[in-house]
Amino acid sequence: MSELVKISKTQFENVFQCEFNDGTVRLCTKNLAPGFSVYGERLFKVEGIEYREWNAFRSKLGGAILKGLKQNPIVKGTKVLYLGAASGTTPSHVSDIVELEGKVYGVEFSPRVVREFLLVAQHRPNLFPILADARFPQYYRTLVEDVDVLYVDIAQPDETDIAIYNAKFFLKNGGYMMMAIKARSIDVTKEPTEIYEMEVNKLKENNFDVIQVIQLDPYDKDHAMVLAKYKG
Ligand code: SAM
Repeated sequence: MSELVKISKTQFENVFQCEFNDGTVRLCTKNLAPGFSVYGERLFKVEGIEYREWNAFRSKLGGAILKGLKQNPIVKGTKVLYLGAASGTTPSHVSDIVELEGKVYGVEFSPRVVREFLLVAQHRPNLFPILADARFPQYYRTLVEDVDVLYVDIAQPDETDIAIYNAKFFLKNGGYMMMAIKARSIDVTKEPTEIYEMEVNKLKENNFDVIQVIQLDPYDKDHAMVLAKYKG
């Protein structure tokens, strides 16, 4: 088992880099719930602070950071609406980054998966699981405040429409959206790059400035992460 030799800051607030004695380098975040590992990731204590390894093969946000994300709108204090929270892998790292000053509202429609997500949220006071279908934001509008960041990872053919609809309800003017696009969920017959362009155009037609489109391979094949700013 490799040992941690160094931990350093990255260009992004609350995102760190850990180096191991076998030469490997991984992302990590400060553990908001010390002692608890969410998906089997390793925990390390350095000068009294516990860090969690962030596996970019399990998290598209991690992959986007390693693939050259220019700007991370998720920082300490950010309020995030997260669509497609699943069992909480990436939401838990987002919860670490925003710390107790921020909030993460995680929407997930699979009851089985939400049960696992609830166990993760138990130890994280800034993480709020919501069992709901992201197609119907009116059902959770009373539970969610206006947010700085809308994070979308639902792998649905109409994901971009769902994202735009949620932005209208909850995203502040000048807020950011991060949307993971799974090309194969949208159209298996088209080239992934063609699909990314189609979805980006929909965002542009709906008051978003698209800042960056990052292809996530090798972390996620045929997936891209779009970073966009909402003009309201
Ligand atoms: N974002 C998670 C992470 O990085 O840890 C992984 C998300 S997984 C790729 C997609 C999730 O979106 C699944 O758990 C699925 O049940 C959920 N999902 C798909 N359509 C949804 C919808 N309409 N409303 C809410 N959740 C949805």
